[in-house]
Amino acid sequence: MCYFRPEIEAISGYVPGEQPGHGEAVVKLNTNENPYPASPAVAEAIRAALDRGLGRYPHPLGQPFREAAAAVLGVPPDWILCGNGSDDILTIATRAFVGAGQLLRLPYPSYVLYKTLADLQGARSEEVRFEADWTLSDRFAAGSEGLRLVFLPNPNSPSGTVIPPQCVLEFARRLPCPLLVDEAYADFAETNCLDLVAEEEKILVSRTLSKSYGLAGLRFGYVVGQPRMIEQLAKVKDSYNCDALAIAGAAAAITDRDWLAENRAKILATRASLVEGMRRLGFITVDSQANFTWNVHPERPAQPLYQGLKQRGILVRYMNYPGWGDGLRISVGTDEQIDRTLRLLRELMASGK
Ligand SMILES: *Cc1c(COP(=O)(O)O)cnc(C)c1O
Repeated sequence: MCYFRPEIEAISGYVPGEQPGHGEAVVKLNTNENPYPASPAVAEAIRAALDRGLGRYPHPLGQPFREAAAAVLGVPPDWILCGNGSDDILTIATRAFVGAGQLLRLPYPSYVLYKTLADLQGARSEEVRFEADWTLSDRFAAGSEGLRLVFLPNPNSPSGTVIPPQCVLEFARRLPCPLLVDEAYADFAETNCLDLVAEEEKILVSRTLSKSYGLAGLRFGYVVGQPRMIEQLAKVKDSYNCDALAIAGAAAAITDRDWLAENRAKILATRASLVEGMRRLGFITVDSQANFTWNVHPERPAQPLYQGLKQRGILVRYMNYPGWGDGLRISVGTDEQIDRTLRLLRELMASGK
């Protein structure tokens, strides 16, 4: 069969974390979803949008969300481009900046999707390895033949670590191309790079409502950039990439700042017990600024522990990065879910797993 572009047939495609059926009683700690229900204002706004009817196309740029987000973020609405999840934003950026044969840079290990996006584009990708302490060397900002775009997940996945804004700004100033800071987890961190957008045109900051707003099912993300950048990126998106219900729900979500603050506090408190519990079990657990932790045990292989947890109804993410190593990425659930996970891990390890 050779109907497809060679770059399509050559790749295996991005494989997201497992999604068990809704009927199954599984504790899901594998894709960094929020364990708590979203702000009630979201369902209300979606119901109101439904009542207005779905006969008309939505605003092509998601204007109601842009205005709501602008008020919260302190930037003008035309600095914001909406996406059908932030994965859509990453796709738009790759298509907009990186031509076939050109180069996309990403840190390693990080979000696996970035490389897939370059592959789909028929572009090359270059992985710059994190140092052992999850910092990035100056090589991350070096010029390179054909370099057109750099992705930086910040906080990073799977580590949950952060590159400080000052350092991000220095990287961007030295790079010959845009630097997209993927801030999917920034609401759980102590710092973020939003203010850098006004200082440096090359910096774009993407965010999602999937993690910190508990709306992974709604599919809504956005990118903040200087208006000249946003205007060009907008040419690349699908004409109506966000639907009317998502725009209404997302606008309500981002407006409810009290909900976000309360949710963040709960997640951070549970994260602290997760980190402490894992360390007590002998894991090397990195200090996390996200809603998950990265855990490597110096003696126990990760895969049997992942399997053991799965058999007992707890799904965490087993990650194996060639040339780097493997480990367990565990999302911060409710206190009860995390207690159960720690208890089961202790039992599994006591039984020799
Ligand atoms: C979850 C995640 C995203 C994608 O989020 P969506 O908005 O659900 O598409 C993007 N980047 C990173 C690093 C993520 O972990």
